[in-house]
Amino acid sequence: MAMASSLFISTPFPSKPISKQIPFSFPSSNPLIRSFTHKPSRNLVVSSSAAATNAIEAETQTSNSATTPAKSLSFRVGHGFDLHRLEPGYPLIIGGINIPHDRGCEAHSDGDVLLHCVVDAILGALGLPDIGQIFPDTDPKWKGAPSSVFMEEAVRLMHEAGYELGNLDATLILQRPKVSPHKEAIRANLCKLLGADPSVVNLKAKTHEKVDSLGENRSIAAHTVVLLMKK
Ligand SMILES: [Zn+2]
Repeated sequence: MAMASSLFISTPFPSKPISKQIPFSFPSSNPLIRSFTHKPSRNLVVSSSAAATNAIEAETQTSNSATTPAKSLSFRVGHGFDLHRLEPGYPLIIGGINIPHDRGCEAHSDGDVLLHCVVDAILGALGLPDIGQIFPDTDPKWKGAPSSVFMEEAVRLMHEAGYELGNLDATLILQRPKVSPHKEAIRANLCKLLGADPSVVNLKAKTHEKVDSLGENRSIAAHTVVLLMKK
């Protein structure tokens, strides 16, 4: 049934009533439902009939998140890290921008290493489960999905919790290609997805000195730190 897959995820903050909530649809088999429903004390509410049917399975799931609700602080900091293997025959998408290269990321979604780690930084700051738990790579729904979908959800959760972006600092690590010609396009798209002023979004890129998989053009990685401020 169509209604079974419609649900809301709420952030674990004691916040003001939300006047506008955008429904986000997960398939009923999404492990997030199970991982959230088995720890009701975290106040992560999933309203779905599918949640009830999955509750029994919940006990088998593990969670890496705190068991108590996150405190509503004036500021919250979050860190994200991601790495993808580079393989010939795939597009290289960084920050939503298609970068010409002889290889790209082999991944379930579009393999956007920058957007993935920005999402993880925001989720981390909010004290929520990581991107892999919310958008599992075992779910066919996310196969080839643009990572902007994950960003939209992370930003929605941030606002729902009553926070806005203070500032963001990201570092891309890759040997090739040069990021500098594409840096402003990547940063502009990042600002658009975050709904943020360019002055609070910083992007850096560096090589890995030709060592290890990063330095041998076999992988790409990114780190992100975000500071969220209470609205
Ligand atoms: Zn990733």
